[in-house]
Amino acid sequence: MKTFLTNLSIVIFLVSCTTAPEKKEIKNEKINEFAIVIHGGAGTILKKNMTPEKEKAYQDKLKEAITVGYTILKNGGKSIDAVEKTIHVLENSPLFNAGKGAVFTHEETNELDASIMTGNDLNAGAIAGVTDIKNPISLARKVMENSEHVMLSGKGASIFAKEQGIEIVDPKYFYTESRFKSLQRVKEKMKAELDHDGKTAFYDPIIKDSKFGTVGCVALDKNGNITAGTSTGGMTNKRWNRIGDAPIIGSGTYANNATCGVSSTGWGEYFIRAQVAHDISAIMDYKGVSLKEAAREVIQNKLTKLGGTGGIIAVDKNGNMVFEFNTAGMYRASMNAKGEAEVKIYKE
Ligand code: ASP
Repeated sequence: MKTFLTNLSIVIFLVSCTTAPEKKEIKNEKINEFAIVIHGGAGTILKKNMTPEKEKAYQDKLKEAITVGYTILKNGGKSIDAVEKTIHVLENSPLFNAGKGAVFTHEETNELDASIMTGNDLNAGAIAGVTDIKNPISLARKVMENSEHVMLSGKGASIFAKEQGIEIVDPKYFYTESRFKSLQRVKEKMKAELDHDGKTAFYDPIIKDSKFGTVGCVALDKNGNITAGTSTGGMTNKRWNRIGDAPIIGSGTYANNATCGVSSTGWGEYFIRAQVAHDISAIMDYKGVSLKEAAREVIQNKLTKLGGTGGIIAVDKNGNMVFEFNTAGMYRASMNAKGEAEVKIYKE
């Protein structure tokens, strides 16, 4: 009997050793009292295609933008203000595919999308397909704060903008020569492909040339509130009022004070199908893993397996800042509570 009991206890011990769940050590300590990260798009961004002047122009603008948000956070301001004002700097620059530098549609117009979300109340606002709003992120904020809706689009969104005192511009404001030339290049390539195999080629030429210049910002303030925002002109040569992931809550933007805030950039259709931003938060929530692990899983595994390209920026409730992308580069910057900034373009 004694031998039987001894053997039984050995078996129980061995079984418990092999089936016990692996314990993951997640450091639940504040790394930064406040933090901010931004992106200016991901894609085939290679050093060999850059001039030193162009590289510097991007770095300077990213630094200028993140400093605006950092200063607000340092002075005890709200993350929503930091995100909105930081994105204004990027939207007002022709360097990025948002606001002033928005890409052209097939019909040679500009259609802008944006969204914002606050992590304390899971409130959100978004606009899609607007043609005359100087700073789409501000209109997304107004939708969140002053309407009962989450997303407005097209002409209706412009009417709401006027009522809210949001700056309206002539659609010609969005004309930039370089974006217009990009559209012509894509159309030329499309024509060449059509001549070649006679099939309709719409996205292919864009993707081969793919640079996603969307802008985004995620910030954690001193009160522990996380806000995420994203703004874009979408994809060059888009048609039929195509809308990407940027204004889709859970794909392009997500924020939850219990987990993290995320802003995406990349091939929008895939980001919508993979529900990238929300998925990162959900994995942290349900599996108890770190932001870095959750982001890597969604971008390098789930999104990549689907065939999607792009990346995300994120901040968690403890001020950990994460960048994750599967492209050659991503315009990006971070700034911690000490005011230490990191501005990067290419893959490390
Ligand atoms: N995600 C954006 C879209 O699909 C494009 C980008 O990131 O530049 O509309």
